[in-house]
Amino acid sequence: MPSLIYFCKVVGTLRCAVPDYFCKVVGTLRCAVHVSICIMPIDFIEALATDDLSAIKASPKTDVHCHAFFSARRENVERWVEHPLTKPPAKMGGVEGMMAYADAVLAPHILHQQGFEFVAVSAMNDAIRDGVVMLEMSFDIRLAEFYPNGLSELCVFIEALVEWYQTQVELRPELGFSRGNANDTKLVKLAHEAVELGVFQSIDLYSRQEACPPEVMKPLFTKARDAGMKLKAHVGEFRDAEEVRRTVEVLDLDEVQHGIAAAESVEVMQWLSENQIQLNVCPTSNVMLDGVSDLASHPIRALFDHGVLVTINTDDLMIFDQSVSEEYRNLYRAGVFSAQELDDIRCASLKTESV
Ligand SMILES: [Zn+2]
Repeated sequence: MPSLIYFCKVVGTLRCAVPDYFCKVVGTLRCAVHVSICIMPIDFIEALATDDLSAIKASPKTDVHCHAFFSARRENVERWVEHPLTKPPAKMGGVEGMMAYADAVLAPHILHQQGFEFVAVSAMNDAIRDGVVMLEMSFDIRLAEFYPNGLSELCVFIEALVEWYQTQVELRPELGFSRGNANDTKLVKLAHEAVELGVFQSIDLYSRQEACPPEVMKPLFTKARDAGMKLKAHVGEFRDAEEVRRTVEVLDLDEVQHGIAAAESVEVMQWLSENQIQLNVCPTSNVMLDGVSDLASHPIRALFDHGVLVTINTDDLMIFDQSVSEEYRNLYRAGVFSAQELDDIRCASLKTESV
């Protein structure tokens, strides 16, 4: 697909090279007329080397680790509430510090139906502007509490979102469940119902891995597997390699959110590589939450060198403030990867997800 999409320097936007090609980036716009004046195909490698952020954004990419609660840029909310919001500190003191910031600064504006829907729509627009062509966004089961008719009404909104944007970006809704709610029988039951609805294509378990052992979530994950959903969980964001392997084995995961602690063990990295377990990494999130001291020493390099499949993602754009394109640029600038390696990661993510 990348070779079919061109960045037209004349009109300054994305165009398709083939008249009858249905372009997910520019929607129904078919622009053979522009082909003759499009000067060159998008060259992601050159875009990185010349620090051309517009051209980096113009290259198709995926975001398979992001949470609907905080998935849009903070500026959207600032425009909406008509005043600036306090920026997060560069180092947030782990997940606890992040949640304290979110509760104090963001939550009052967005933790209700109207706020959530505003963020979700803004997130779709932000992703399109960034050249994201496939978005695997998690919707926490607790979002159902925002709706008078609960889960069914939430799903109506999610399905409408998929449909509204289907010509511009493929949204694959993901069911999100926090380990902190593992003992809430009502929410667990609701998550089982959500799996049955067929709206969600994948499931993700998150919050602190110490909050509950993976075995507790096995029935829900077995049900999701039987429903044909992709299985994911946050683990190894801070520690440790063996827990990454154990969680993958217990829950039969397809992919791991973060999982960077696997780099502590060559054996676990080899195991992940052999079993084709993909790690969906969010570099700026890892640095700001102190899972990693700085970008230059990010273990994504070691994971890549040991053959582990990695993707590059945003996590919470509203907090970490870096789009997928900016994450690629940051990794290049920090000397973590060459432009060719970053292009290989980008192309592999498009291929793996069959976008
Ligand atoms: Zn996450």
